[in-house]
Amino acid sequence: MTNAGWFARAEAVIPGGVDSPVRSFRSVGGTPYTVVSGSGATVTDVEGTEYLDFVQSYGASLLGHAHPRVIAAITEAATKGTTFGAPTPGEVLLAEAIVERVPGLEQVRFVSSGTEAVMSAVRLARGATGRSRILKFDGCYHGHADHLLVAGGSGVAELGLPGSAGVPAGAIGDTLVAPYNVVPELDESVACVLVEPVAANMNLVRPVDGFLEGLRAECDRVGALLIFDEVITGFRVGVGGAAEMTGVTPDLWCFGKVIGGGLPVGAFGGSAKLLETLAPAGPVYQAGTLSGNPLATAAGLAVLTGVTAEDYAGLIGRAEDFGKRLCQAIRSGGLWSCVPSTGPLLGLYLAPPDAGRSAPSNYLESRAIAESGLYPAFFHEMLSRGVALAPGAYEVLFVSMAHTSDHLDRAVEAAAEASAAVAATL
Ligand SMILES: *Cc1c(COP(=O)(O)O)cnc(C)c1O
Repeated sequence: MTNAGWFARAEAVIPGGVDSPVRSFRSVGGTPYTVVSGSGATVTDVEGTEYLDFVQSYGASLLGHAHPRVIAAITEAATKGTTFGAPTPGEVLLAEAIVERVPGLEQVRFVSSGTEAVMSAVRLARGATGRSRILKFDGCYHGHADHLLVAGGSGVAELGLPGSAGVPAGAIGDTLVAPYNVVPELDESVACVLVEPVAANMNLVRPVDGFLEGLRAECDRVGALLIFDEVITGFRVGVGGAAEMTGVTPDLWCFGKVIGGGLPVGAFGGSAKLLETLAPAGPVYQAGTLSGNPLATAAGLAVLTGVTAEDYAGLIGRAEDFGKRLCQAIRSGGLWSCVPSTGPLLGLYLAPPDAGRSAPSNYLESRAIAESGLYPAFFHEMLSRGVALAPGAYEVLFVSMAHTSDHLDRAVEAAAEASAAVAATL
């Protein structure tokens, strides 16, 4: 059956045909390809078309699809039983692996998604401080919990939503929103400041010098907790994540994506003293039937213990070089482009050639470029050349450890042609 056939069946039984809005082609037009398999840097759809994949499950995949070591770990774990409702060695091993790699982090609790991780970290921050208000930044995405769904990036931005219907005013009444890259002035009503230390859900926006340091100082001044949402950056921008990379240590970390090795896992953590506030030791309740699931922790452990600092350095070198060449290729094709990078994360901004723009430092600037409206056409030109970018202008490119120089060369070539094709329509 064709992609169109599968998607029609999907739309009949799944709202919008997708289980997460970012997967729909709403913001780029057309019908999504339905994936049957993936291997390393590529995915194959139901029609047998292979794509060079820069989606990589929006960052859940670091080693590439179906990595033999991860498959072996999952298979072995599965033969022993998939969930018990009792402590398991696997969750201890993964917690140790995480804590060892992230300077300043002492304990983590596992959950089943990034959304749950952030939701739980915020509850912990409120419980520990006895305060209600939280502050987030415009264009940052922190999952789909009610109180965090204002001024969200990723799919919320792609669908042009200010927030979400179904979220009562009361749920967001204690959520303050500030522009990214400006240190807000806080007062003692604020429980926590929640930030993506590198913003990767409004396309890529890097923290300017002094921003994260300033947040740290301002939180300390008023006794608020600083939460780094490292669901994308954790174990992606380097062994110790964004905290280690920037040298700014938060009070709480949130993880997801990479730490699950492609299975559903999230985690949040901080100092042992702060985490004592959680049940059963403390009064802040938080729980999960499948939390610390043996399959998921085995997959995560296989990823974390299978990559070295040298692997990250190699990946970052390849991705940075690719980003530069991608930008040049698009410019040579006739469009204006900017491809900022942080670690292996790449942004991708496109605009008409005479736009005279520079790399955005906040959501409004990122949106202004997205609204130039060139991304959908560029996306489809790339897809028709066998290169799959995310179907939305606010996502980043994920270069996995499985992307070879050949793959990246191919993508650069495709980008030059795609740019020329789009430029010809202007
Ligand atoms: C993906 C993401 C989340 C939500 O994680 P889910 O596993 O999709 O619930 C939270 N924060 C950031 C920064 C993310 O990129």
